[in-house]
Amino acid sequence: MTTPREKTHLILTVEGVNKTFDGFKAITNLNFYLNRGELRTVIGPNGAGKSTFFDLITGRTKPDTGKIEFGWDTDLTALNEYEINRLGIGRKFQTPSVYGDHSVWENLLLSLKGPRGVFATLFHRTRSEQRDRIDELLTLIRLDAKRDWLAGQLAHGEKQWLEIGMLLAQDPQVLLVDEPAAGMTDDETHRTGELLLSLAGQHSIVVVEHDMAFVKQIARDGKVTVLHQGTVLCEGKFDEVQSDTKVREVYLGRGKHGTR
Ligand code: ADP
Ligand code: MG
Repeated sequence: MTTPREKTHLILTVEGVNKTFDGFKAITNLNFYLNRGELRTVIGPNGAGKSTFFDLITGRTKPDTGKIEFGWDTDLTALNEYEINRLGIGRKFQTPSVYGDHSVWENLLLSLKGPRGVFATLFHRTRSEQRDRIDELLTLIRLDAKRDWLAGQLAHGEKQWLEIGMLLAQDPQVLLVDEPAAGMTDDETHRTGELLLSLAGQHSIVVVEHDMAFVKQIARDGKVTVLHQGTVLCEGKFDEVQSDTKVREVYLGRGKHGTR
């Protein structure tokens, strides 16, 4: 239980959440608390409910019971996907979805917050503050040199970074990132870790990941949450979690990609 004072630091509160699909309990009495500016890593075997957990926060799926709140008291279960996104909760799915026929620069432009549609955005003169913001994002995601490339021509890892940049273009408070390192080379994975670490603080981030080297890199002194059968099995620093007997049984003992 959290005290009111602690509550002011929380950006996400998930309490007593249950979700059943056709009688199958995908999420069982799930409790999860994220502090503002925190970078949290969530691990767990395939089918543990990690993506469903993101679906519940983003409004793609509604819980059967339980509380999901944003900030002090915004009830996310009462809002739809679009409204939740507009509040400042951005999600990155596993497969990158960029506009392949547009340049990297245009992809970022199209993602900036603003009322215009695609056509108007591309044919209207861009304002200097928009260009500055895009430059900033290009540097952050290290695609400055490829700003004029078609997004469809980027390597898999670069597409993932572009999509993170597109998410950031909307200035989200919370970033939910599902298995960003999947399909990446070791070098790309490491760079992705650096990017996420650089975003913590200004953003509150939850990263779901399988790759243990990557989890170790981004977890540092932060908390790791282990999900198993739709509930929290264990939560703590990377080393604590790694040496936990229950965790080893269900997950870590099976190697880097143990659950596939
Ligand atoms: P993870 O991301 O940890 O691998 P998921 O959240 O994708 O796990 O899935 C958890 C369980 O819930 C799985 O058994 C999956 O088949 C089931 N599930 C997830 N979403 C749905 C859905 N929309 N309809 C039916 N079953 C679902
Ligand atoms: Mg998943």
